[in-house]
Amino acid sequence: MSTPLLGILREEILATGPMPLARYMDLCLGHPVHGYYRTRDPLGVAGDFITAPEISQMFGELVGIWIAAVWSSMGAPAEISLVELGPGRGTLMADALRALARAAPSLVPRLHLVETSPVLRAAQAERLAGISPTWHDGVASLPPGPALVVANEFFDALPVRQFQRGERGWHERCVGLSPDGERLAFGLAADPDPHLTTQAPLGVTLTLPGAALDTVRILARRLVRDGGALLAVDYGHAQPGFGDSLQAVAGHRFVDPLTAPGAADLTTHVDFTALARAATSEGARVHGPVDQRDFLEALGLRQRAERLSAGATPQQAVRIAAAVSRLTDPARRGMGSLFKVLAVSDATQPRLPGFPDAKP
Ligand code: SAH
Repeated sequence: MSTPLLGILREEILATGPMPLARYMDLCLGHPVHGYYRTRDPLGVAGDFITAPEISQMFGELVGIWIAAVWSSMGAPAEISLVELGPGRGTLMADALRALARAAPSLVPRLHLVETSPVLRAAQAERLAGISPTWHDGVASLPPGPALVVANEFFDALPVRQFQRGERGWHERCVGLSPDGERLAFGLAADPDPHLTTQAPLGVTLTLPGAALDTVRILARRLVRDGGALLAVDYGHAQPGFGDSLQAVAGHRFVDPLTAPGAADLTTHVDFTALARAATSEGARVHGPVDQRDFLEALGLRQRAERLSAGATPQQAVRIAAAVSRLTDPARRGMGSLFKVLAVSDATQPRLPGFPDAKP
């Protein structure tokens, strides 16, 4: 499919040669005019994919309960920032704030949203009308002070670098042009990267989530300094980094990552081991990762569903049960075990709600 971005990518490749995968992802997702997230609301039935907060209000409500519990275990600081990374339509935050108002009525957080998409910023402003959040392009501009940070399906959308093991070392995966110059094609840099010395068998792919690691390091550093926690929910794996999980989705289907640049969502599975290591290296404490199912059930998903169903019509009750199973089912269509939850906190919090007892 020819997209406006395809022409721009071809020109850049003709001028300067094949571009690293991270640059390709960055342009496809974040090009100021034609980037995937700049031009549309990708969420929901009419969009390209659906996320946990869009499946059920219970997801955001449980996150709100988590926020209330962590805030109170921090000693209920009067001044605290509530931060969301990549808030989508603002659904998670709206549901979380409703639950928060009930669970911790004295907590009046200042709300900060990290969001680059003008379309989604507008949706968030509408959904969170009356709360007047402050928007940021990245985590670097967040104000100092204690903070509780949540991120659902944010880290998977950040650009990654990939390398393939060859005889002489690791060759970076690049996007260039097909021999006829018409289509995009994957290739490998001719020379190996001089900085990568990891040992692995020939042909193995290594994924380095540079942007995600930078984000976690910045957040971990401030959490250690000023107090607070980060809750990150995403699909990914707890085993470290080999393999290629790059995928493109449009209209709820997998598509070739190179055929519709800027018109399909590009993601990779989140490497939670690497994220945890980045946080630990800043002196922060890591909790999990645990399966989304275990996290939600520990926070009371089943009880919440039962309570909602008690006052619902039979039809609504069926929908609630379907949402619970979608959020917790470990099978392929469910999110229960593919999705993981990781938290990062300052060193004074040995245990966070939803996570089993911390390892000694
Ligand atoms: N959390 C929401 C939306 C997930 S989609 C939900 O669960 O429904 C990913 C979100 O991250 C979108 O809001 C997208 O615009 C935002 N996003 C993607 N890349 C970003 C970046 N580099 N900086 C800030 N926000 C980004």
